[in-house]
Amino acid sequence: MASPDDRVDLHAHTCVSDGTLTPTQLVERAAATGLAAIAVTDHDHVGGVKEAREAGARLGVEIVAGIEFSAVHPLGSLHLLGYFVDVDDGPFLARLDRLRAERHARARRMATRLQDAGVDVTLADIAAEVTGGEQASIGRPHVARALMRKGFVRDVVDAFDRYLGPGRPGYVPREPLAARDAIRIVHDAAGVASLAHPSTLAPHARETIVRDLARVGLDAVEVVHPKNDEALRAALLSWADELGLGTSGGSDYHGDNKPDIALGSGCDGNVLVTRATLDALAARCARPRRA
Ligand code: AMP
Ligand code: FE
Ligand code: FE
Ligand code: ZN
Repeated sequence: MASPDDRVDLHAHTCVSDGTLTPTQLVERAAATGLAAIAVTDHDHVGGVKEAREAGARLGVEIVAGIEFSAVHPLGSLHLLGYFVDVDDGPFLARLDRLRAERHARARRMATRLQDAGVDVTLADIAAEVTGGEQASIGRPHVARALMRKGFVRDVVDAFDRYLGPGRPGYVPREPLAARDAIRIVHDAAGVASLAHPSTLAPHARETIVRDLARVGLDAVEVVHPKNDEALRAALLSWADELGLGTSGGSDYHGDNKPDIALGSGCDGNVLVTRATLDALAARCARPRRA
């Protein structure tokens, strides 16, 4: 068992995207849990990093600047994590602004689609669930909370099942961002890219996607995640070993939007990541790149 001082969590969301804790509250939780470091990996937003760093300096928690993108590959949609991104890089910040503007337009279309389906949820109802400020990254969990508040669904999972998943009445796809372009955005911001929660990929597509993305510069795969079972973790480790990829891991903490997931330990303790994983990722960041 790792010493408590060694434990880290490299996948966590705040209220600047679809987590429910403020960056300060997230770091307070990390400190209370005894974590040495966390990566703040909000969707399309690095706006929580500065506040997290201030709290981290006070509470003795190292903060890794992270990001999470939604992207597509011919075999399916996926999420990519970026680590050690430069949160002052102008073109990077401008790109994130555009992605969040697209999210806002999509939320408006989701409200329209729900209204058309006879579900009275407005853009204002959705916006009222966004607690991370004007510039926050609006997403389906905010729509889910609006549906809950208005009594249309029991919880976030019920909202995705009935209204927000692909093919459901409120579903609106994102504008597609190719996975190789998402990797390039991370690299251009001086970061390293890791394939997030590979469990969400179709089982038969996982290996092909990892191999394809390795060829276009992917740096790592998220081996440890609450939804990765032991067999998938073993497969990912062997692909990473063969392809020269690093590994990452974290709980994908979202606060009350995923109440069964705990920061630092995942679901019933199925996440344990140590500083060695963070150090190995950091070492990749300094290396010259292939792509
Ligand atoms: P979006 O980025 O707006 O497409 O929303 C995707 C986010 O919704 C993910 O990052 C998760 O936080 C959350 N999510 C996706 N599927 C589900 C689900 N079935 N139940 C609960 N939350 C989900
Ligand atoms: Fe999320
Ligand atoms: Fe994700
Ligand atoms: Zn995530």
